[in-house]
Amino acid sequence: MVEPILTIVVPCYNEEDVLPETMYQLSECLNLLEEEKLISIQSKILFVDDGSKDKTWPIIYKESLNNTKIHGLKLARNVGHQNALLAGLIAAKNTSDCVVSIDADLQDDVNIIREFIVKFNEGFDIVYGVRGKRDTDQLLKRTTAEAFYKLMQKMGVSLIYNHADFRLMSKRALKELERFEEVNLFLRGIVPLIGFPSTSIYYDRKERLAGETKYPLKKMLAFAFEGITSFSVTPIRIVLLVGFLSFFTSLLFGTYFIALKFIGETETGWTSLITSIWLIGGLQLIAIGLIGEYIGKIYKESKRRPKYIVEIDTYSVTQKLYKDK
Ligand code: UDP
Ligand code: MG
Repeated sequence: MVEPILTIVVPCYNEEDVLPETMYQLSECLNLLEEEKLISIQSKILFVDDGSKDKTWPIIYKESLNNTKIHGLKLARNVGHQNALLAGLIAAKNTSDCVVSIDADLQDDVNIIREFIVKFNEGFDIVYGVRGKRDTDQLLKRTTAEAFYKLMQKMGVSLIYNHADFRLMSKRALKELERFEEVNLFLRGIVPLIGFPSTSIYYDRKERLAGETKYPLKKMLAFAFEGITSFSVTPIRIVLLVGFLSFFTSLLFGTYFIALKFIGETETGWTSLITSIWLIGGLQLIAIGLIGEYIGKIYKESKRRPKYIVEIDTYSVTQKLYKDK
């Protein structure tokens, strides 16, 4: 068997404190895997500098001159974790058989990469790293993250529970990923949509080795909102539903209020006022919900997601064999 070429992609934003240790640990990991003949000696580590303001890039650049295994990709400005990661994945795609993405802060267990490769060699295209325990994360982060995964599931988005962006992807999975043209990238939601054979490996998440989290609560909430609105039109549907509810209640109550008026038990003017408020309110919400439905359709179209993904193509294989003869 020929050993696969692995590239480890690491997005970094202001990570000068932890970077030297990350470089050391990942290089060690790569060496071990090469010695074990699990991966090719052409394997590499690609650090993506996401427009850092500290010494992140100089550290990467200097190391890349000393160490042939280490490469750097400098982004022109800060584009956020997801986009930085994508830049790395796309850059690594053509020269690798598989790519592992991992955060720079060593919260994810580098030793698990070996298990990723074993699974890849068994034929899996995507291997998800799933956090078994999250004791090391703060309570607030843990509970909000949990609520997020549950909410996403309720909204009909298939997320791998407790999986962040620590995963392995094969070359062909990356090629398909590239076809998802949406602007607001939410990799955790998109990767499962590819649908190639996948599996999960469980590990314990550690504490950030150094530096601070770049995702404080405010950014996490923004990220969650982005995730939901990028994958689901359920929020708009809820508006429509509330509209219908309000409308039908207004019909019921309206009849009741009018009946009351004829019995003569209400203040003057109250009946017409309250009935029209409910009626108009309901109608307005229905209208907004309907407009929302159409906007939802435009929104789905504008994402230009690929309509299908080919996994096995016996046709071109036979064509190729035919040509090779
Ligand atoms: N990161 C990035 N660009 C950003 C913010 C973060 O490339 O704008 C990187 C960061 O350097 C780290 C990873 O994304 O490698 C995850 O960030 P962090 O560890 O701060 O998030 P947390 O694990 O706390 O959710
Ligand atoms: Mg982290």
